[in-house]
Amino acid sequence: MTLDCEVLVVGGGPAGCAAAYWLALHGRDVLLVERSTYPRARVCGDALTPVAVKELADMGCAPDAAGWHRHRGLRLTAHGRSLEVPWPQDGRWPGYGVVMRRSRLDALTFARAQSAGARVLTDTEVTAPLIAHGHLRGCIARRRNGDRARRSGGNDAGGRDGSGNGGADTADAEIVARARYVVIANGPSSRFGQALGTARTRTYAQGLAMRAYYPTPRHREPWIESVFALADRSGRQLPGYGWIFPVGDGTANVGVGLLSHHDGNEAISLERLFEQWTHQIPDRWEIDPGGPHSRPEGGRLPMGGSVRPQSGPNWVVVGDAAGSVNPWNGDGVGPALTTGRLAAEHICRALATDDGDELRQYEAELASRWQRYHHLGRLTTRALGRPGLMRKLTQLAIRSPRMGKLVVGISTDLIRGGSGPAGACNVYRAASGLARLRRDRS
Ligand SMILES: Cc1cc2nc3c(=O)[nH]c(=O)nc-3n(C[C@H](O)[C@H](O)[C@H](O)COP(=O)(O)OP(=O)(O)OC[C@H]3O[C@@H](n4cnc5c(N)ncnc54)[C@H](O)[C@@H]3O)c2cc1C
Repeated sequence: MTLDCEVLVVGGGPAGCAAAYWLALHGRDVLLVERSTYPRARVCGDALTPVAVKELADMGCAPDAAGWHRHRGLRLTAHGRSLEVPWPQDGRWPGYGVVMRRSRLDALTFARAQSAGARVLTDTEVTAPLIAHGHLRGCIARRRNGDRARRSGGNDAGGRDGSGNGGADTADAEIVARARYVVIANGPSSRFGQALGTARTRTYAQGLAMRAYYPTPRHREPWIESVFALADRSGRQLPGYGWIFPVGDGTANVGVGLLSHHDGNEAISLERLFEQWTHQIPDRWEIDPGGPHSRPEGGRLPMGGSVRPQSGPNWVVVGDAAGSVNPWNGDGVGPALTTGRLAAEHICRALATDDGDELRQYEAELASRWQRYHHLGRLTTRALGRPGLMRKLTQLAIRSPRMGKLVVGISTDLIRGGSGPAGACNVYRAASGLARLRRDRS
């Protein structure tokens, strides 16, 4: 079966759904292809900062819908002290964050894309780019068990008119999707992107993380918590943190995140670290380390704009496929939603002007938004990999509410670009100015 569209979106996580939503909202004929069906789990900490909440609100995702657990801010815990840092209430961002299971969040953003008019194909795996005369023309995909997908909740592809354009009843149908532009949004190991020449800069650190859900009576706690106490076998503090993010449904999402680059000699097992961390969870959460609701699962977080190039003649990469996770703290949902939206804006312009060069402006816009921020983040994460420095920096961050606010503001991307309290902005500007004097190892 052959399908035609203006824009093909490969992958229906937050980045792909945001791109599909904004494209469809602007009247573009968009086809989103996703290999699973919704609702589906995605390994994540489920915590959204005000940046991500704003992107979701702009997409019409109501923050008061069931399953959104609001939080007031971030509790930092280190060296026997805790500091509660509220999200800013200055009107620039929503004054709260949210914890929401990805099974709900992704079903919600997917539904928004669909209701804006995007055609969607679920249970359909993109297997290869469609190349003709050296140019990307779309993709080849395999649709598994079309019948089952249709019965499992109406996630099936349909035309804008619901005509079922693209729906297939046969199992394992091969689909050829032809498009003028392609958005690559298929997550951290994007083989589709790699087939077009994208590659991760391996000298940049990436994140490794693992999480499980634990029952807790404190599941409605209004703070998410990050604990800086991960250590290797010799007791040296590691560049990473353990988290407890209350979900509001009787459970908390409990996890560990670690930077891949650390200068210790010891190979760190994430499983061992997770196990160790569950015995360090502060008592106030009343979590039994032996009683998770789910088995621990992990994943990679490609960070700091580490994937290049981010655009080609008629394609762009977004979200994790573009390595867009925030290197300061491992947030990837906010950047995924933002890159999806920006990609849609530039593709709309390219379609309106019939000028594919517009896609280079997408890459330029990513650079102007994040290049300095990511550069400073990468330098900081590299420094944190040195023994002793992680300890010193966390001691500094926890010292005073002012310092905690500064660290949280920078690390959650709430201060960048001159937004935020003047003092904090000045510190950020000075630090990123100094960072420009240091080149990356790339
Ligand atoms: C343990 C862990 C904890 C994390 N915690 C947080 C957190 O608390 N907050 C936060 O903001 N971020 C967190 N992140 C990062 C966040 O999960 C990602 O950055 C985010 O999911 C990226 O969104 P995306 O849309 O780019 O990719 P994904 O969410 O990975 O979506 C990609 C989609 O593409 C689909 N796909 C893949 N291949 C194909 C194919 N061949 N054909 C069709 N479809 C395909 C997949 O099924 C998937 O639906 C965490 C990550 C991990 C691993």
